[in-house]
Amino acid sequence: MNAASEVSLLDSLPTGVFIAGKWHDAPTGQRFDVEDPATGKVLTTVANGSPVDGLAALDAAAAAQTAWAGTPARTRAEILRAGFEAVTARAEDFALLMTMEMGKSLTEARGEVAYGAEFLRWFSEEAAHISGRYSPSPDGNSRLLVTKRPVGPCLFITPWNFPLAMATRKVAPAIAAGCTMVIKPPALTPLTTLLFAQVMHEAGLPAGVLNVVPTSSAGAVTGPLIADPRLRKLSFTGSTEVGVRLLQAAAGTVLRTSMELGGNAPFLVFADADLDAAIEGAIAAKLRNGGQACTSANRFYVHHSLADVFAKRLASRMSEMTLGRGTEAGVQIGPLIDEHSRQKVADLVDDAVSKGARVFTGGRMLPGPGYFYEPTVLTDVPAEARALSEEIFGPVAPIVPFHDEQEAINRANATPYGLISYVFTRDINRVLRLSEQLETGMLGVNSGIISNPAAPFGGVKQSGLGREGGAEGIEEFLETVYIGLSNPFA
Ligand code: NAP
Repeated sequence: MNAASEVSLLDSLPTGVFIAGKWHDAPTGQRFDVEDPATGKVLTTVANGSPVDGLAALDAAAAAQTAWAGTPARTRAEILRAGFEAVTARAEDFALLMTMEMGKSLTEARGEVAYGAEFLRWFSEEAAHISGRYSPSPDGNSRLLVTKRPVGPCLFITPWNFPLAMATRKVAPAIAAGCTMVIKPPALTPLTTLLFAQVMHEAGLPAGVLNVVPTSSAGAVTGPLIADPRLRKLSFTGSTEVGVRLLQAAAGTVLRTSMELGGNAPFLVFADADLDAAIEGAIAAKLRNGGQACTSANRFYVHHSLADVFAKRLASRMSEMTLGRGTEAGVQIGPLIDEHSRQKVADLVDDAVSKGARVFTGGRMLPGPGYFYEPTVLTDVPAEARALSEEIFGPVAPIVPFHDEQEAINRANATPYGLISYVFTRDINRVLRLSEQLETGMLGVNSGIISNPAAPFGGVKQSGLGREGGAEGIEEFLETVYIGLSNPFA
């Protein structure tokens, strides 16, 4: 990619508030900066939406709801399909934009475009399959009719780490179900959502169905919407800490919520594992997005017979990674999103080392510009190291040996989180036992990446509520209505 294509993409981007099919400046005229984390330079500025903009966006979503709910499912499906084609046609623009504002490599960004677009295609197919049921009541005295209808106007709050996919995973099922929406994109990476809104508008999505309010004041803008009885659904992806606060606020109006929150994924390697596959899986589960994924492997529990060789081979692979600005050829790992995140990663490594851990490879921040941290392997990590209990969100792999299956299960479950677990073994019976005993919403078996738009993504415990993707994803946006009919034969 050359600098000219970056400039022309930035020049062509919408950077306003998007309400009722129109782009506006924030009435205050205020804007905020969007930075490239690989250089620390400002890429562009974006309208800084205010609480007034937030409520105007909800007005638009509420006004569009009845007509959108009454739009035939086939029409909604075809708009989603057109959106899939349009995002795919502009895949290079979306990929470059995500690399610029978030830092991931272009190869990974292209992968996210394919993954993110696939939600539009998957839910275009689901839209036409919303159905209910009809049955006699057991006592024979009545007939039961059960139907589904869209839940109504939604608020989506999304994180910076997957700027496209975290939006499409909510937007696509909402469109399929017949819901309208307001999106509060992440302040660090709002540009991808703004381009996506423009592309969906051009693909035929009616005005008011999808509204976007970028802002640097997330709580001030979303608080009044969450308290407004016209809002019927809050879907949030982000940290457990913010999710808890939003759940407390949502209780005030008994708002339906979906919460995709933090993780602390265990990665279990048993003595019978295919070691090559385990190393490949570890690289994928640890280094995807530079370790900045809720699905990142956070704790590596390896059978003691393999722990040394696993650490040596993983360290060798991780130390060979090429770091740099994601637009450059050959770069595999980009920067962390900002200095605060990089400092947190450094603090977790320092904490582990101060408690006795050994740095097998890496363990340093790289000089600027940009927020780079070396891929790092830690061994001899004591149980009290914070890196084992907190989400690292960076390229650091702490390795801990275990002796038997029950010990591995106990260690894996010793966390308030339960998003995803990874297991490497050739024993199918062990896989079945683990699937019943690990406290997890998702289980990757001999694979370091299992996210799939056709599968239900989500966690248990403090990793969240609800599921995104799969047949389950659309249910989050549907209400069930029961209609009792008197017996027609009585
Ligand atoms: P975050 O700080 O919780 O922010 C997520 C979103 O919430 C952003 O849009 C943010 O706005 C907004 N926000 C922050 N405070 C808010 C408030 N008081 N009221 C309303 N909105 C508020 O999380 P993050 O750092 O962006 O993302 C990393 C976290 O997300 C990690 O814990 C990761 O595991 C989790 N995650 C989970 C999944 C999943 O599917 N389970 C997927 C991806 C990420 P600003 O941008 O303005 O701060």
